[in-house]
Amino acid sequence: MRLVFPERSSDSTVDVVTDPRDTKPRKHYVQCWFCEASRNATEYGVVEDHNPAHDFPSRSTLVQCDICNGALLFLQEDHGQGFDDDLFRVWPAPVRHLSSAIPYGLRDVHAEARRCFDAKAYTAAVVMVGRTLEGVCIKSEIKFTNLQSGLDQLKKNGLIDDRLFDWTKELRVLRNEGAHFTGKLVSKEDARDALQLCEALLDYMYVLTARFEEFKARRRKGNDPGEADVDPDVW
Ligand SMILES: [Zn+2]
Repeated sequence: MRLVFPERSSDSTVDVVTDPRDTKPRKHYVQCWFCEASRNATEYGVVEDHNPAHDFPSRSTLVQCDICNGALLFLQEDHGQGFDDDLFRVWPAPVRHLSSAIPYGLRDVHAEARRCFDAKAYTAAVVMVGRTLEGVCIKSEIKFTNLQSGLDQLKKNGLIDDRLFDWTKELRVLRNEGAHFTGKLVSKEDARDALQLCEALLDYMYVLTARFEEFKARRRKGNDPGEADVDPDVW
């Protein structure tokens, strides 16, 4: 593999900070998508981007799996306390990167659920999904004695709709199966669905709801030049 490193321009905020030709390659212990297992991987390049127009500072790391030679690209972000320890895979088959609009604590616990899934610990993954739901209730500043009452309050306060409430109820049941000694192990399919439903809930509550409110506010201000021409009966 040959890498070409561009000259660093004086006005650029994107810096190449590691040149593997000059330094001994670093090793990372990562989940290899090709091997479907945790592997040592050799670092081949790191790029840090501190341009404020690109949201949070980011660090992209290209590595090669020491076992299968597959190339993997990972991303880290700095939310004010240095770069995350977690390496989010962005190539191949990227792990979906949760929006920074979702509170950090929730993204953190959800990332742990994902790590459990990657390690094939499916029962542990759904337990962490349940912990994420508890976190949502706490961040919403509602009073609750157990997860069920917390979810009831979320619905009562209009923070989730009927469909999301149904999803969360099923997730709670699955979480309970995982959290208690029932003799049943959680399947890979159930754990994967639980992760995705949990992500959809986080998106709905912290990303889409805020975006819709911004959209409505913009419309109220009459900033949309096409609004006057729309016939409501056609819509
Ligand atoms: Zn591999």
